[in-house]
Amino acid sequence: MANQLRVGFIGLGIMGQSMARNLLQAGFSVTVWNRTESKMKVVQDWGATPAASPQAVARKSDVVITIVGDTPDVEAVITGDEGVLAGAKPGLILVDMSTISPDATRQLAEQASAQGVKMLDAPVSGGDIGAREGTLSIMVGGEKDVLEKVRPLFEAMGKNIVHCGPNGAGQTVKACNQIMCGLNLLGMVEALSFAKKAGVDLEKMIQVTTQGAAGSWALANLGPRVVKGDLDPGFSVRFQQKDLRIVLQEAEQLELPLLGTAAVNQLLRSVQAQGGSEDGTHALIRVMEQLGNFSIIPDNE
Ligand code: NAP
Repeated sequence: MANQLRVGFIGLGIMGQSMARNLLQAGFSVTVWNRTESKMKVVQDWGATPAASPQAVARKSDVVITIVGDTPDVEAVITGDEGVLAGAKPGLILVDMSTISPDATRQLAEQASAQGVKMLDAPVSGGDIGAREGTLSIMVGGEKDVLEKVRPLFEAMGKNIVHCGPNGAGQTVKACNQIMCGLNLLGMVEALSFAKKAGVDLEKMIQVTTQGAAGSWALANLGPRVVKGDLDPGFSVRFQQKDLRIVLQEAEQLELPLLGTAAVNQLLRSVQAQGGSEDGTHALIRVMEQLGNFSIIPDNE
């Protein structure tokens, strides 16, 4: 029964392309739409069917997944003139896997519900590697029985699937995730800077510390990229700043000071001021190089 669900997939970026491929490999029939048409070609070669708009995707699907960019992008593909809701019949399940504002998610879920469409927020963690390998953590907000209906889809894309609460709870947990990602990132670049200045081998430092109490995803996955001078995303500074903006706006509403998160946000602003918005988040090393007057990235040496 499960992989008889007809799946619609909107947004074939770094994450979406790999996630759609994993759904196809698990045997689901997948209809896709992407704003830039050329990106549909590759998933077509893997067996997906292209559609002309998000509206057309919804007409052909039992479940529609969106993974695009920021809050206004999700609103555009869901509520726009040719958006998902324009093509949705009652009973459609809409799963947004982008990282966006919890407040906006709750509003979208209400709008969808008025049309008989059940929505889940299901943002992910695990990066481009997790998307490729089908090992994403998926944090789900919405009704639990709706999650159970689409669980086989989530199992094709991820490993750690947790129902976090009602609509918006998935995005709130993702905001917690981004707080920790930001601070682990800062810890990683500070440790690499210290190692470089003190003259120890960077690769050995990473090798031994990833296995101990200091280990983090940032250290294990981004540390080696820094040492190689590879600042490609992965996850771009622009997107990390989007996520930290969501966190800091929510924290303001909660009257909660978040000193570390605000510091990471300001340091990444410096990366952006120097033209690094589309680099991976580990380009934070460039600010450390300037602050400490040293070079790790080979191009700078
Ligand atoms: P990406 O490579 O930049 O891809 C973004 C996708 O969204 C593209 O397909 C883009 O279409 C589409 N898009 C953006 N704005 C749109 C709009 N207004 N209307 C229609 N389509 C639009 O981004 P990504 O890295 O896959 O990230 C996607 C989402 O996943 C984001 O919310 C991000 O925060 C989240 N996320 C990313 C990672 C990661 O490591 N990359 C990890 C966890 C979560 P075009 O092809 O036309 O540009």
